[in-house]
Amino acid sequence: MDCPRCGKELREIDVNGVMLDICDSCEGLWFDQGELGRILENAGEAEASIHQSDASVSWEGEPVPGESPSDPGLQCPKCGEAMRRYNYAVSSNILIDACEKNKCGAWLDDGEIKRIIDYLGNYRDSLDPEEKELLKVKLDRIKADASLREEALIDSLVKMDDKPGLMRIPGEMLQFVYRIMYRMGL
Ligand SMILES: [Zn+2]
Ligand SMILES: [Zn+2]
Repeated sequence: MDCPRCGKELREIDVNGVMLDICDSCEGLWFDQGELGRILENAGEAEASIHQSDASVSWEGEPVPGESPSDPGLQCPKCGEAMRRYNYAVSSNILIDACEKNKCGAWLDDGEIKRIIDYLGNYRDSLDPEEKELLKVKLDRIKADASLREEALIDSLVKMDDKPGLMRIPGEMLQFVYRIMYRMGL
């Protein structure tokens, strides 16, 4: 696979048993579908895993200037289709590209893995006990509910008023984020 950002060939690396692909040139990371979740699942280990691997060069990096959520995404390195640019977890202002059409995976530019891990940690710390309890209840309902209703429930978890176009984000993307938060011990 070639880097969707700069076109150089990606190199496979082992991050705590998860095989990611890194661009040695721009230091971005490719996560096959499910791999980002596997890395973030063990919140305590995620940062250490990155640092102990070749992905450590991707830890520090400035956001790509001039990007906005409405930009067209990069080209998927696996299937070649245009990816969708997402604001990670809706309001993090971390813009990642994910293959929506064939669900191949997601591309994180240099530094975005650190920003995501920081964001999830800060989000967790910012919730008061009442909010945490509420989120748990909602997550339990999501897990118990049928998939069609899940999307509506997940939509209700986030404020969407000020985010035009947000309804197009697939419910599963948000569900994925909230499941990670759940596993992180919210
Ligand atoms: Zn690159
Ligand atoms: Zn794809």
